[in-house]
Amino acid sequence: MDRDEFRKFGYELIDWIAEYYDTIENHPVKSRVKPREVMDKLPPNPPNAGESFENIMEDFKNIILPGITHWQSPNFFAYFPANSSMPSVLAELLTSALAVQGMVWETSPAATELEELVMNWLKEMTGIPVYFHGVIQDTASTATLVALLSAREKITSFDVNESGFQSNKYRVYCSTEAHSSIEKAVKVAGFGRKSLRRIQVDEQLRMIPEELEKYIQSDIKNGFIPACVVSAIGTTGTVAIDPLQSVAEICKKYSVWHHVDAAYAGSAMIIEENRKFIEGIEEADSYVFNPHKWMFTNFDCSAYFVKDKEILIRTFEIMPEYLKTAADNQVNNYRDWGIQLGRRFRALKLWFVIRSMGVEGIKEKIRNHITWAKEFAEEIRKEKHFEIHEPQNLGLVCFRLHLPSVPDQEKRNQINKRFLETINNTGKAYLSHTKVHGEFTLRFVVAQTNVTRDHVWNAWKMIKEIAEKFSKNEQ
Ligand code: PLP
Repeated sequence: MDRDEFRKFGYELIDWIAEYYDTIENHPVKSRVKPREVMDKLPPNPPNAGESFENIMEDFKNIILPGITHWQSPNFFAYFPANSSMPSVLAELLTSALAVQGMVWETSPAATELEELVMNWLKEMTGIPVYFHGVIQDTASTATLVALLSAREKITSFDVNESGFQSNKYRVYCSTEAHSSIEKAVKVAGFGRKSLRRIQVDEQLRMIPEELEKYIQSDIKNGFIPACVVSAIGTTGTVAIDPLQSVAEICKKYSVWHHVDAAYAGSAMIIEENRKFIEGIEEADSYVFNPHKWMFTNFDCSAYFVKDKEILIRTFEIMPEYLKTAADNQVNNYRDWGIQLGRRFRALKLWFVIRSMGVEGIKEKIRNHITWAKEFAEEIRKEKHFEIHEPQNLGLVCFRLHLPSVPDQEKRNQINKRFLETINNTGKAYLSHTKVHGEFTLRFVVAQTNVTRDHVWNAWKMIKEIAEKFSKNEQ
């Protein structure tokens, strides 16, 4: 493709994207394709000769697009969002055009310095103490792995880096509700899955600190060494909030690394009254939240903060001759702040979003989402067809059909599963699910960039109508 073609198709593509966003609600939110349907429509072998852009776009529209679940639809209420916004899309375009590789400061000074700057902005915006050091990781999963590796090196005086594990006596702790990325990180970091202690939760699905302390004490007594505790500020299932302050005190008492996973909820700390959820953060060793979830910045953009950056850097540092530069002592070289050497220029999109929306603009959006989720929850509470999980936290509402005449849990779960499928099959809204105390529970998340109060109310009306039919048929 030459530059003239690039201009022509580039302008057309921007028009296509604007049109897509204008008409996104015409698509079923959840893709309706069957397994392998996309694959079967595409030639199995790569073309020998280059094809025209028009042809590629035709296939994109006719084959790829039907296989897309529309995460940017305002009717997307599933999982947690992977949000985008117009300034973020444009910044991604620039990032891909510049296509810099920010492994060290010298390979693109602005990429490194902008990253340091926006990480400092995020601290100020969300109440993270100034003495933390920020770095962008691709995902919260990677950030948690980075935290576990740092904890591993700290507790072994950097010996696993040198000699590998000499014995399997280390323990990692998180609640039974914590995200699967912790289990994955424990496997990858070499602790082994058996070293992960799942701590019981209370009725509200929060880690019970007394249980954590009991496990730590018993492990120490039995010759194990507690290496890391991971607290969840907003679990994936129900946005349960672990009692950070109490967990922090226990970690301090037993000198255990304390990592805090606020992947979704962290963005809400931009609103001062939510900061109660992170009281105790001052004592944490590391903290992660995802602007790619609820700060309107394209995936991937995960904000990782660490108190002692020397431990982080010593854990990951490598110094081959070909990476040495004259500026090494004066700047951050982010290749040593995580796993990858090569790094995308992710700070640009975050900078575009924060500048374009302003702190007040971001706050207003998040505040609205929380308000509309609370209104939705209020409606659920009023209706006899539903049960709601309490407490309802931030933008998530967990609810299910109230089925008093169905004593069997498995049967209730099947009915609620069909209820969810019926909602999603309308194509007008997309919700996901979790299990709460064994009960199949629907999750309704109000957090999409373009969602309005009307979208929430329309979804509510539709859900209520389907529930009425279900309740009639099932009781
Ligand atoms: N932690 C929590 C609490 C999450 O909810 C999620 C994803 O939803 C993750 C971690 C993993 O996030 P990522 O996809 O950025 O790895």
